Amino acid sequence: MPESCDVVVIGGGQAGLAAGYYLRRAGLSHVILDAASDAGGAWQHYWHSMRLFSPAEYSPLPGWGMPRQEGEEFPTAGHVVDYLRAYEKRYDLPVRRPVRVRVVRPAGERLAVEAEAGTWVAGYVISATGTWERPYVPDVPGREEFAGRQLHTVHYTSPEEFRGQRVVIVGGGNSAAQILAEVSRVAETTWVTLRPPRFMPEDVDGRVLLGVATRKAAGGAAASVSDLGDIVMVPTVRDARHRGVLHARPMFARLTAYGVRWPDGTEQPCDAVIWCTGFRPNLAHLAPLLPGWQEGEVATEGTRSVDEPRLYLLGYGDWTGPASATLVGAGRTAKATVADITARLGG
Ligand code: FAD
Repeated sequence: MPESCDVVVIGGGQAGLAAGYYLRRAGLSHVILDAASDAGGAWQHYWHSMRLFSPAEYSPLPGWGMPRQEGEEFPTAGHVVDYLRAYEKRYDLPVRRPVRVRVVRPAGERLAVEAEAGTWVAGYVISATGTWERPYVPDVPGREEFAGRQLHTVHYTSPEEFRGQRVVIVGGGNSAAQILAEVSRVAETTWVTLRPPRFMPEDVDGRVLLGVATRKAAGGAAASVSDLGDIVMVPTVRDARHRGVLHARPMFARLTAYGVRWPDGTEQPCDAVIWCTGFRPNLAHLAPLLPGWQEGEVATEGTRSVDEPRLYLLGYGDWTGPASATLVGAGRTAKATVADITARLGG
């Protein structure tokens, strides 16, 4: 028999937990289905040196802020995982894992959420499945020919495996800049971006970004975080600038068997290409609810799907609320989402 509740949350990362916090407070029956076997969402998978952009106190989920990490001003990814694990215990959130949702379908007035472990039927579904499982690599000619190693950010762990090699790093965001900063210490690096990289001023860190995002969310600021630039000048990236390795070249024309070919026809051999080229929202399980949807973003009003009013999308990026892919932003958008559902349920 399917289990029945008011709301099913799909995904138990930071966005799913923030939703759980407000659903519990609103007294709505719910379950959080998470495909991973442990708590922490994407934070479980980041590379070894990865740090938060800001001190712990700037990244609270609702109710209980992240404790400081002893000896670290900017917490490690492992610390965030510990925090998320403790958070779901503290609020006794009904997380079931590992449960991977295969598909969500209309079931009369309600929605049926199907997984191998069972089926749940609910009035509303909040999808909070993140982007980590959908790494994006552009369709560059010659990718199949290249005999060296190609990997995406999701497979990168530490610079050591590239020691002494020639490495091309592709991408104009924070992952590319941070990985370049550390790989360039042990390898010969070439940085390639589609557009010229946009560095934030050196005095802008996560604290400033969260302030800007907060003012934007409150409707009090015209500027958004992306107006400040794309790359936060964390200490390792600042250091890379001072070492003179932070110079990007425009995109190469193609990969060859041994390296890259530039638009002027010259070739440059390399041993590895690291694609730091971003992610797409992980939404395939929603296909039956969104006829005509072709990957990418879904039309929303706030976090609510325009085409399927029983569906909410949380945490995927600015299109699901200002800074909604950050810890503090996830809390804000979860609060608005649960308030909307509560109002529709007449509570
Ligand atoms: P996730 O953490 O990816 O969680 C999604 C969960 O859903 C996972 O557990 C997954 O297993 C599960 N799932 C997926 N599909 C299914 C399915 N079909 N059924 C059931 N479960 C499913 N954020 C900050 O707040 N501060 C920072 O300083 C910061 N720095 C960053 C630096 C870098 C370089 C990067 C890459 C990101 C950074 N972020 C930062 C962003 C943040 O790490 C992510 O945006 C965040 O983890 C996304 O949370 P989420 O809950 O939306 O998704």
